[in-house]
Amino acid sequence: MSEKCCFCEKPFVKPDFGCNPYPLADAGRCCNFCDSVLVNTARLLPQFVGSSQSPKIVGLMKSMVWAHKEAEKMKKELMQNV
Ligand SMILES: [Zn+2]
Repeated sequence: MSEKCCFCEKPFVKPDFGCNPYPLADAGRCCNFCDSVLVNTARLLPQFVGSSQSPKIVGLMKSMVWAHKEAEKMKKELMQNV
């Protein structure tokens, strides 16, 4: 089992053992932050769930996480860009 978030690559801190990254990734686990901000937002975009757009969304999310954007800004950009 992976010890790191599959999106932002931060190591999990107990008791955070990672959340299910579906529908953005089939494998691995993501941290609570990425789950609440990114995965939940993606779940609101059903037209992209499991579609060929998923890698694009994941790439967009990673760049936002690495840029340390605020959660609300991330959600807005994610909704606008996909
Ligand atoms: Zn994460």
